[in-house]
Amino acid sequence: MSRRVMVVVGARPNFVKAAPLVHALTAEGIEVDIIHTGQHYDRSLSGGVMEQLEMPEPSYHLNVGSSTHAQQTAAVMTGTEQILMDARPDAVVVVGDVNSTMGAALAAVKLGVAVIHLESGLRSRDWSMPEEINRVVTDRVSDLLLCHCQEALDNLAAEGIPADRAALVGNTMIDSLVRLLPAARAGGCLERLGLSTHDYVLVTLHRPALVDDPARLGDVLDILAEVGRDHRVVFPAHPRTRARLAESGRLEDSTITFLDPLDYLDFIALEDGARLVVTDSGGVQEETSALGTPCITYRDSTERSITAELGTNVLVGVDPQALARACGALLSRSPARDVPRIPLWDGKAGPRAARAIVDFLDARG
Ligand code: UDP
Repeated sequence: MSRRVMVVVGARPNFVKAAPLVHALTAEGIEVDIIHTGQHYDRSLSGGVMEQLEMPEPSYHLNVGSSTHAQQTAAVMTGTEQILMDARPDAVVVVGDVNSTMGAALAAVKLGVAVIHLESGLRSRDWSMPEEINRVVTDRVSDLLLCHCQEALDNLAAEGIPADRAALVGNTMIDSLVRLLPAARAGGCLERLGLSTHDYVLVTLHRPALVDDPARLGDVLDILAEVGRDHRVVFPAHPRTRARLAESGRLEDSTITFLDPLDYLDFIALEDGARLVVTDSGGVQEETSALGTPCITYRDSTERSITAELGTNVLVGVDPQALARACGALLSRSPARDVPRIPLWDGKAGPRAARAIVDFLDARG
């Protein structure tokens, strides 16, 4: 019997996580339709990344764009609801923790369409993060919860979610990394930017709680500018961050090289070659841990504590002096590195997730 699954994506990290699952579901003979909500619509964050990941063309575009959280979530819900009422797929897959994830999950569950959550069970326990609300709500209404580490399964069990609804499949974001790293390394991005391996600091900061606060953003830039006196500092800035940097005149900082967002291949090449990464991104904490690249996370909490326990991540809090100390300590170490091995972050999570979905659909009949 032919099965039909819809995969909802909307933001840059969604594409990276979803692509391996889409490929593996197709290999299992499942018909896959992609709904692109358009939460990220800038080509630098969307189209180019999808092409490099060889994602099929979306069957549906919701074009929700950016607005308030409620408006964006509502637009995802109404758009998804209409598609699901017309198409009645066997299940909807939602990915990660963005508004598109929660909005599509809510629309599906109320129509009685099975909800599958990829990257389920992560918890920062920080309710000021919109992503934490999206994660908890999505998990609560999901029928199959696909987890990338044991801690995520444990979090779900602690919330009373029955064990038979959850499966430990590993990290599909690392599948994309493993598959495309050879092409990324061959792409010549370091040479184009005049960078030498293990001789520069890569920075990404985009969380609204940080970059929309001029004092907080100014504090972190002061530290990075200082680091930039002795090391090359490259900062591919998210459009939101770039707008804030322009407003505060900080794009002129001469010891920091600001760039537009990089395409996925160039970005993972820079993560791979960096001496140190400073970030507030969720995905970057994971990718650097899989690559063995030292990473400082400039946030007060992480939902990815596995990257600090088994990987390379150091959580310093939103504290400029702690950032300065951690940069000093990590940059004074030898650049030689071991690549940590996190269980099931092995490049084969997509096929495991697809198998779990096939078993789930079979069990539902
Ligand atoms: N990324 C990219 N270009 C960049 C910065 C990041 O392709 O200039 C990729 C990165 O490799 C990772 C994903 O975007 O796969 C992380 O997304 P982001 O930091 O926007 O979101 P978060 O992970 O914080 O939700």
